[in-house]
Amino acid sequence: MKDCIFCKIINGEIPSFKVYEDNRVFAFMDINPISPGHTLIIPKNHAANLMEISNEDLAAVHKASKKVMAGIVATLQPSGVACLQLNGAGANQVVFHYHLHLIPRIPGEPDLPVSGWEIKPGDMGEIKATAEKISGALNNG
Ligand code: AMP
Ligand code: ZN
Repeated sequence: MKDCIFCKIINGEIPSFKVYEDNRVFAFMDINPISPGHTLIIPKNHAANLMEISNEDLAAVHKASKKVMAGIVATLQPSGVACLQLNGAGANQVVFHYHLHLIPRIPGEPDLPVSGWEIKPGDMGEIKATAEKISGALNNG
């Protein structure tokens, strides 16, 4: 897609540090890494987010993420790897081409803000009502 920075990376118009590629997927280093090894996995077909990406591309991205994660684990020996995927400006998505972040965690580093939230029990009535709304919209019986 014209004017999409990640499409330009796939086409080679913008340079990147590629770590993996197949017929559907491209994976490269994030240039503003949260930690060493921070990698982005993207579909070659442009899709803005989880709503837009095809099931085939979604599967391919997540299968590729297993391979790339194995490489990260083998070489960097992180204490864990966070997989992060944001949808929409309200979720702080900045680049509107679907991407899965693989963020290696280093022992002793502070929690990622997104994974270190305070555990507080919710209101069970409210949780139930919300579940019913969502499942009703899915028509899954
Ligand atoms: P998000 O908030 O999930 O949309 O994150 C977009 C990510 O893309 C950020 O972590 C940026 O550092 C990363 N990014 C933006 N431009 C580039 C680029 N040219 N090469 C590599 N990573 C990039
Ligand atoms: Zn794109």
